[in-house]
Amino acid sequence: MSYDPSNIFGKILRGEIPAHRVYEDDTVLVMMDIFPQSRGHCLVIPKAPSRNLLDADPATLSAVMPLVQKVAKAVRAATGADGIRLAQFNEAPAGQTVFHLHFHVIPVYEGVALGAHGGGKADDAELAALARDIAAAL
Ligand code: 5GP
Repeated sequence: MSYDPSNIFGKILRGEIPAHRVYEDDTVLVMMDIFPQSRGHCLVIPKAPSRNLLDADPATLSAVMPLVQKVAKAVRAATGADGIRLAQFNEAPAGQTVFHLHFHVIPVYEGVALGAHGGGKADDAELAALARDIAAAL
């Protein structure tokens, strides 16, 4: 299966639709998930076009993983989370819904169950505030 640039993250990367951006450079975008599984759920998106892990260039993966770690630490610092779950889905049967490679950084709070994957939409003002707090902790 090949990469289709009309996916929603492709549109966000090209600036065609808005996102709560946390960090961006030439190779990666970090933004808030608008249907978060918990408060502070972020997505780390390498800009290089690939559907998922299976067709990604290993060089892209090597470059992005240190940033995934940095974002995980910043999310923990900004939210006070008790733990961080990292998730990444490959193809629809495995739970993938957007076909541009991305890593979920999901804060976990002691005693609080995670919401459903792709559940309810978060409040925009709350996402904007979280994006600022996480950016400041990066
Ligand atoms: P996947 O299931 O492909 O691993 O995850 C896609 C993620 O993208 C889901 O967690 C979903 O909530 C999130 N998502 C879907 N559409 C949008 C959008 O338009 N903006 C943002 N920021 N996240 C989105």
